Amino acid sequence: MDYKDLANLIFPDVKEISYYEEKYKKRDLPEGAIVTRFAPSPTGFVHLGSLYQVVIARKMAKQTGGVFFLRVEDTDQKREVENGVTGIIESLRDFGLTPDEGMINETEEIGEYGPYKQSLRKDIYQSYAKHLLEQGKAYPCFATPEELDEMRAKQETAKIRPGYYGVWAKYRNLTVEEATQKIENGEPYIIRLKSPGREDRKIKHHDVIKGNVDFPENDQDIVIIKADGLPTYHFAHAVDDHLMGTTHVIRGDEWLSSVPLHLQLFQMLEFKAPKYAHIAPIMKEDDGGKRKLSKRKDPEAAVSYYTEIGVPREAVVEYLLNIANSNFELWRKQNPNASVDEFELQLNKMSVSGALFDIVKILDIAKTVISKYTAESIYEEAINWAKTYDDELFRILQDKEYALKVFGIERGNAKPRKDIAKWSDVKENIEYMYDDEFYGKDRNYEYQKVTDKKLINKIITLYMEKYYNENDDKQTWFEKIKDLAEEVGFAREVKEWKKEPEKWPGHVGDISTVLRVALTSKANTPDMYEIMQVLGKKKIFKRFEQAMK
Ligand code: GLU
Repeated sequence: MDYKDLANLIFPDVKEISYYEEKYKKRDLPEGAIVTRFAPSPTGFVHLGSLYQVVIARKMAKQTGGVFFLRVEDTDQKREVENGVTGIIESLRDFGLTPDEGMINETEEIGEYGPYKQSLRKDIYQSYAKHLLEQGKAYPCFATPEELDEMRAKQETAKIRPGYYGVWAKYRNLTVEEATQKIENGEPYIIRLKSPGREDRKIKHHDVIKGNVDFPENDQDIVIIKADGLPTYHFAHAVDDHLMGTTHVIRGDEWLSSVPLHLQLFQMLEFKAPKYAHIAPIMKEDDGGKRKLSKRKDPEAAVSYYTEIGVPREAVVEYLLNIANSNFELWRKQNPNASVDEFELQLNKMSVSGALFDIVKILDIAKTVISKYTAESIYEEAINWAKTYDDELFRILQDKEYALKVFGIERGNAKPRKDIAKWSDVKENIEYMYDDEFYGKDRNYEYQKVTDKKLINKIITLYMEKYYNENDDKQTWFEKIKDLAEEVGFAREVKEWKKEPEKWPGHVGDISTVLRVALTSKANTPDMYEIMQVLGKKKIFKRFEQAMK
């Protein structure tokens, strides 16, 4: 009896690995093309840190003419969530990050390297496990939970490195006959790797992001096939990334310490190892210290948060590129209107330690992103968001023609308005343009510099009776406000007033503030001329009357 007989006893029906090696052809891609993947467990939840990995992995693939695929890692079936795959796919799609290959819903997929769901690849893993068994590079382990507990307790008391290795690997050296006997007796078992590593030897590894690192070799006889016949994460990673042609494993740096084991697996399976790029997590300031952005503690850790508050997806993606490569910011300054696809991301320029999460920066980027939208796209995005999240805004936006005028104020010019960072800001930013909303809420009129009620009424009255003309162009309109300023004894020009401020009680700006506040109840709005154009005479006069009451 030899290893082959034992392998046949354990996996009698699986195919030879040559079948899979031939079935999954080497990818025909241009020189230098990068093949990357996103490999989540189907928990439905997408963490901002995962989205960050996706943005990076996908971009590296895109900019080199490679492939980015989605593989669902569902071998830990305890962690599974109903419709967890859909949740992930939808999040990626919401952010414009649809993969080239992989699962497209709970059951279907596209691409030649599938199945892209690990639980459907059981036979494949078992073939490779059998291949290792045949060479004596893996073995069945019969340790019971009690035995393992006992081992752990002993290691703890003796303060010895924990794990199943060396002298502790009780079933490592069973003879083929002994193992066969146990299997025939029906004793339960799992398959372990027979690690050739030694803890006192080092391996050197070059990580694309972290640089040169060295680690002790792996000497743990890790489980490769569990009692349910499914592989562990580590074994599946090696088999899948080999067969799927992954060139770069881009993942969170919590996996960096697994590199010695992964390299060993690739070596024992006689696969070419991929390059590894381990990304530092996004951090958050907390009580003066720093910690990882946490799914449990921070609502902003869930990518759904951004959809809910209505931050446009490009803004989030752009923010993530910003923290990925520090030269992105300069590039953006020099190319304000370019698509981010034109930015060349460099993995080796990524920071080794984690960037600090910055919501202010996200919202700032979002303001710029939205400022470049047309009134039409703002309308579409805002109403789309409102449909799910804000009934009142949805109702306000029903009159599309008027809404387009409102959104068109100070837009499409060289310095477009930058007051909207997220769709949930829209209502507050436009509601004063709607009479129902304007009169429906208590209004506070704060006229700033001019406080005398009589003077305020005089300014408004004069404006209505003498200076307002709906057909004026912008320049004439402004000249008239200057005339009005002069008539009530204020300086025509801000500049003049600044030179001799004691000469006048105020300047034309204070007069236009009175009109602005009377009209909108706000001291800060976009261009008042445009606002007046949109409101029209009837509404304007009604508001002036109301303000004087
Ligand atoms: N399924 C692993 C995870 O959930 C993937 C790690 C990897 O990208 O290799 O983190």
